[in-house]
Amino acid sequence: MRFATERETICQLCRTFWQLGWASGTGGGISVRSGSTILMAPSGVEKEKLSPADIFELDADGCVTDAPTSGQRLTACAPLFMAAYRHRNAGAVLHSHSLDVVLATMTVPPGEPLRLTRLEMLKGLQGVGYFDLHEIPVVDNTALEHELAGRMEQAVLQWPKANAVLVRNHGVYVWGTDVAHAKTQAECIDWLCRCVVAMHRSGISHLTHDRAQPDDVARERAAHAAD
Ligand SMILES: [Zn+2]
Repeated sequence: MRFATERETICQLCRTFWQLGWASGTGGGISVRSGSTILMAPSGVEKEKLSPADIFELDADGCVTDAPTSGQRLTACAPLFMAAYRHRNAGAVLHSHSLDVVLATMTVPPGEPLRLTRLEMLKGLQGVGYFDLHEIPVVDNTALEHELAGRMEQAVLQWPKANAVLVRNHGVYVWGTDVAHAKTQAECIDWLCRCVVAMHRSGISHLTHDRAQPDDVARERAAHAAD
């Protein structure tokens, strides 16, 4: 079987996501790129039960080049995954329905991004420092998943420093240079959203909860400049 390793990786990640509650009820999605071939888990299936033969292969234009013989449907996430492959040269794109992410999007006023600063796990996000004011775009949900594609593409282009797009009341699309990187980015975003929700419940502002000393900010900027 072609791309046996990538197919197995997708199945393993689907099980992990399901255990985390990020892909229950057939939700969520996993996609990995190998060279110019993109592999995607199918739509509307129990993600924790997938096998390598259930995975789709697509070309760089998003056209299916190999479909499972079991009659699976291509994921409705496909056009959204393709936005990150086309515009960010992603190595993997993941879609989670994490409850903490969903709740965090509810704390963000319409039309604004989720703004984060002075939280340890920000350092796990690519190119982001502890003292940065990091913005992750939030787009409004649609009735059908594939209808989100235009909003996703617009957000990807408008926020070039973010490697995720949050979907209000729905979840998150997150990508990385490869599958391990995409997974850690998803884990960091989930932690940050969990933290935002917990602070919100406690009446703590996630933007003004800490006052950094100017020296601290300058030290971090200098360290980044040296990278
Ligand atoms: Zn979804």
